[in-house]
Amino acid sequence: MSFTMSRFSWVEVEAHQLEHAKALHSWDEVNLGYLTYEEAKAEADRCLQCGTPYCQDGCPNHNPIRDFIALVQEGRLVDAALLDWQVNPLASCTGRVCAWEKQCEGYCVVRNEGDPIRIGLLERYLGDYALKHLDEIDLSSWVGEGHGEKVAVVGAGPAGMAAAWFLARKGYQVTIYESWYLYGGVMSYGIPEYVLPQRVIDLEMEKILRLGVTLKTGIRVGKDITIQELKEKEGYDAIFIATGANQPATPGVPGEDLPGVMTAKDFLMKATEHLLAKDYSLPDPGPVPVGRRVVVIGAGDTAMDAVRTSLRLGAEEVYVCYRRTEELAPSRTPEIAHAKAEGGRFIYLVNPTRFIPGPDGRLAGVEFVRMQLGEKDASGRQKISPIPGSQFVLECDTAILAVGYRPETDLAEATPGLEVANWGGIVVDQDGHTSLEGVFAAGDCVTGAKTVIHAVHAARHAAEALHHYLMAKRQDPLALLEAATVG
Ligand SMILES: Cc1cc2nc3c(=O)[nH]c(=O)nc-3n(C[C@H](O)[C@H](O)[C@H](O)COP(=O)(O)OP(=O)(O)OC[C@H]3O[C@@H](n4cnc5c(N)ncnc54)[C@H](O)[C@@H]3O)c2cc1C
Repeated sequence: MSFTMSRFSWVEVEAHQLEHAKALHSWDEVNLGYLTYEEAKAEADRCLQCGTPYCQDGCPNHNPIRDFIALVQEGRLVDAALLDWQVNPLASCTGRVCAWEKQCEGYCVVRNEGDPIRIGLLERYLGDYALKHLDEIDLSSWVGEGHGEKVAVVGAGPAGMAAAWFLARKGYQVTIYESWYLYGGVMSYGIPEYVLPQRVIDLEMEKILRLGVTLKTGIRVGKDITIQELKEKEGYDAIFIATGANQPATPGVPGEDLPGVMTAKDFLMKATEHLLAKDYSLPDPGPVPVGRRVVVIGAGDTAMDAVRTSLRLGAEEVYVCYRRTEELAPSRTPEIAHAKAEGGRFIYLVNPTRFIPGPDGRLAGVEFVRMQLGEKDASGRQKISPIPGSQFVLECDTAILAVGYRPETDLAEATPGLEVANWGGIVVDQDGHTSLEGVFAAGDCVTGAKTVIHAVHAARHAAEALHHYLMAKRQDPLALLEAATVG
C-alpha cells in the first residue's frame, strides 16, 4: 500500500527512555517522552486527521485528540493544551499513565498498517509544555460567574482534582478536603515517581488552585468532620465525594499477617513517603527493607509498580506470581515490558495457598499450587482450577500482595443515609447523585478500582450534574434549558 503525503510515515517517532541499567539505580522517570518540538511535530504529522476520529471513541473521556494533534502540527502547543484541558485537566498525568494501547491508540486507523500515532506521548508533550508556561497562561476567563454557592470535594485524587476544576469553572467556591499529606491520591502514593513524578502532579494541582480552589490536607471526612457538619456547620451547598478505592484486598490464605507480608498499598505508600519526605516535609517512615528475594502476588499495574520499586530498593530477585497467563494479566503491556526489562521474573498459572514462617516467625516462603485454564465462563473469561498435588514452595524474604482494592467503608459508616453496595462502592444514579440530597460521588469510590482517565470522565459528568442540581435549587432558568444536555 502506498501513501502520498510527504510527511507521512508508518513508523512512530520513538520516545526517549532512561537506560534500564541506570533506571534501577535511580527514582528518575524512565519514559522521557519527546524532548523537542521537532520530535513531537514529526509524530503529530503522521496523524491522518480522520473525518471520524475513532481514537476519541477509544478514549473513556473522549478527549479532543484529533484537534489537539492538529494544533501540535501548527506549533500551537498552549492552544492544544487549553483544548484538552476543556475536558481533561490532568493531561500530563494521563499522558504518562493511560493504557493507550487499549484505548485511543488501540483505535487509531494507522495501526491497521503501521505504528499507531503515539497519542499518549503527544498529550504528555503538550500538557507538559503548557504547565511549564503556566505563568504566561491567563486562566481568569476560565472561572465562571459565581452565585456564592460553596461546594466541598472530599478526596484529592484524580476524580476530586477533576471535579474541583470543572466546578470552579462553573463559578462555585470549591474546597477540597484530603486525608493524606499530599494531593494526587493513588497517582501520588501508588504510582511511583519513575512513572509519574510528584512534580507533575504538583503543577496540575497548582493549575487547579489558580481557579480559586482551596485545598485542605490532613483532614479525614467522616472522622475529623462529617458530611452532615460540612453541610450544616460549614454551609456547603453540595458535596462531591471522590474518596477512591483504597482498601487492599488479600488472597485470604493462612499466614497473611506474618511479618514480611505486606499489601502493595502499604509498601508503595511507605516507599513514596520515604522518597518524598525531605522535599515535602512529610513524616519519614524510613527505608522499606525488602531483603534479597521478593514475591509479588498479582499481575496488575500495582504488581508491576511493586516489582520495579522492590528492585530499586535493592532486591536481587523479584518474582511476579499470577494465577492466569500473561495474555490475561490486567496490567498495561508497557508496564509488564518495563518490569521484565528491569529484571522482574514471571511465574504464571500459580496461586498462593499459604505464607510460611521461618524459625524467627518472619515470612520464609510462599506455598503455591499450579493452576490450569479451563472452559470459558459466561463473560468469555477462561476459568481456572488448581492442579491437585502440584504444590511447591518459593522461598522469599518479602511477599507483596497486589490482588486488588475496594472502597474503604469509614466515610459511609459515619454518614447516615449514604447508600453503599455490598462490596463497599457508593451507590449513585446515572448522574452521580448519591442517596443523600446534594451529595454526589464519582471515581473509584463508585466504580471500584479503574483508571485515572475513567475517574476524570466520571468526575466531569457528575460535576455537570451537581451544577444542574444547584442551578435548579436557585431556580435558574438556564437549568431548565440545559437539563437535557447533562453528559
Ligand atoms: C499502584 C497503582 C498503580 C496504578 N497505575 C495506574 C496506571 O498506570 N494508569 C491508570 O490510569 N491508573 C492506574 N491506577 C488506578 C488509578 O490510580 C485510580 O483508578 C485512580 O487514582 C482513581 O482516582 P480516584 O480519584 O477515584 O481515587 P484515588 O486516586 O484513590 O483518590 C482518592 C483520594 O481520596 C482521599 N480520601 C479517601 N478517603 C477520604 C476521606 N474520608 N476524607 C478525605 N480524603 C479521603 C485519599 O487519600 C485519596 O487521596 C493505579 C492504581 C494503583 C493502586
